[in-house]
Amino acid sequence: MQQPPPNQHALPEADQPAWLLELARLLGPTGLYVPGLNASEHDLQPHEQDWRGRYRGKALALARPASTEEVAAVVHACGAHGVSIVPQGGNTGLVGGGIPDGSGRQMVLSLQRMNRVLAVDPANLSMSVQAGCTLAQVQEAAHAHGLLFPLSLAAEGTCTIGGNLATNAGGTQVLRYGTARELCLGLEVITAQGEVWSGLSALRKNNTGYDLRDLFIGSEGTLGVITAASLKLFPRPASQVAALVACPSLDACVGLLQMARQALDAQLTAFEVMARLPVALVEKHLPDTAQVSRSLNAPEWTVLVEVSHTRAHEQGEALQALLAHAISQGQAVDAIVSQSDAQRQAMWALREAIPMAEKAEGLMVKHDIGVPTSQVPAFVRDTQAALAQSFPGHQLVCFGHLGDGNLHFNVGAPVGREAKAFVQQHEVRINHVVYDEVARFDGTISAEHGIGQLKRDELAQRQSPTALALMKAIKQALDPLNTMNPGRVL
Ligand SMILES: Cc1cc2nc3c(=O)[nH]c(=O)nc-3n(C[C@H](O)[C@H](O)[C@H](O)COP(=O)(O)OP(=O)(O)OC[C@H]3O[C@@H](n4cnc5c(N)ncnc54)[C@H](O)[C@@H]3O)c2cc1C
Repeated sequence: MQQPPPNQHALPEADQPAWLLELARLLGPTGLYVPGLNASEHDLQPHEQDWRGRYRGKALALARPASTEEVAAVVHACGAHGVSIVPQGGNTGLVGGGIPDGSGRQMVLSLQRMNRVLAVDPANLSMSVQAGCTLAQVQEAAHAHGLLFPLSLAAEGTCTIGGNLATNAGGTQVLRYGTARELCLGLEVITAQGEVWSGLSALRKNNTGYDLRDLFIGSEGTLGVITAASLKLFPRPASQVAALVACPSLDACVGLLQMARQALDAQLTAFEVMARLPVALVEKHLPDTAQVSRSLNAPEWTVLVEVSHTRAHEQGEALQALLAHAISQGQAVDAIVSQSDAQRQAMWALREAIPMAEKAEGLMVKHDIGVPTSQVPAFVRDTQAALAQSFPGHQLVCFGHLGDGNLHFNVGAPVGREAKAFVQQHEVRINHVVYDEVARFDGTISAEHGIGQLKRDELAQRQSPTALALMKAIKQALDPLNTMNPGRVL
């Protein structure tokens, strides 16, 4: 955020509460933006609405602390004056978790100024970073030491590591390296009482009581503010080869995954699927990006498979042999293997362009469900059939991380119908159909994006009473005054 001209829309200081003025003095001119004091309402807007344009709120003020102590001061001051806090990283979350409500009484606490890499320890394969570092910055810092931080997702240039941990983000390499939770060794957190918990350990083994780190990971800002993290690193692959594979059915994709796991083992670092429609949407809205898949002739399903090697100049012989075998067995009908890193990146660009193409197409009812990988084809078949009964002609944009059993299963209006009106009219019933099927397959209503505001009521209905009671007990114990991101998750 740019600093506005001084006191552009200033009201007399006397109109502001004394504690807010005190906090403004403490944080300095770029540390706290208060509409009417040193910012216009317009200045706060990027922090008051979400990436999809679905949630819009109104904040009391925007705090941008530059240190752990300043975060603690903000949390402490807000707690003392009954103001709740909405932590925010890159604001790329898709469930309204980082957007204030409309009351004008919540403080948005942005971590974006806390963006320093604190240390890299190659011998321990670990690094520590402040929470406001973007994911891309973390990846680059690891890369500069010849190492890999493997979390990777399409929003990586904007999302922050604090947000990634608060949402337990997944992304494209989970099947090899795990989610954000599995990549985290320790955390520094400001508790709801404004105390610093220094858990920034770089240990891989530590069995000293309850795992506090795991409580905060995935808690979506409802238990405390993550200010720094200690992260696992890995040897950087010396070469990577990707392939786009045309498959006749989703069952064939699962068959290919099984063969790939057997043949490639730890070399297999990604296995993504895309149905025909999401690829067609990229062709429609971002035609240059779709170029790479043209020669496959619009198959029912396209798989993006990637292998990583510790030796340089690997040509992906094992991958090529696997694909030849898969074609001979009918699990695949055609494949393009990347011949250069540029071609491999073009394949990823196609996969990662899908959310942008969807956005250009119009609103959809979005789901990030998970079911056991073996059940994915049956889940898609059954759910599509159930949707077709109630919403004939609906468009299904289905793609995602087949290797993790996690699909984006997005339902759009029939061709010719207005997208927004369709979503407004049918969202509740569509969710009902999809989540009933998810439950039938012992799946999850959120494998990636979390609960936020969007799925809070759904969680309350579909989580077991025992699990809900445990979650509420944790919230009550850590945040008894409910100042941390109230109304999210629970
Ligand atoms: C194009 C696109 C692709 C995406 N792809 C994926 C994907 O593949 N996998 C995936 O998992 N997600 C994906 N996402 C969702 C999103 O990028 C992730 O949820 C990401 O982890 C959010 O990070 P952020 O910094 O933007 O967090 P925000 O959006 O700012 O916040 C998200 C939540 O975390 C809380 N929070 C943020 N920072 C902190 C902190 N320091 N301490 C405590 N709480 C905090 C917020 O209060 C909020 O509840 C995608 C989003 C987009 C727009």
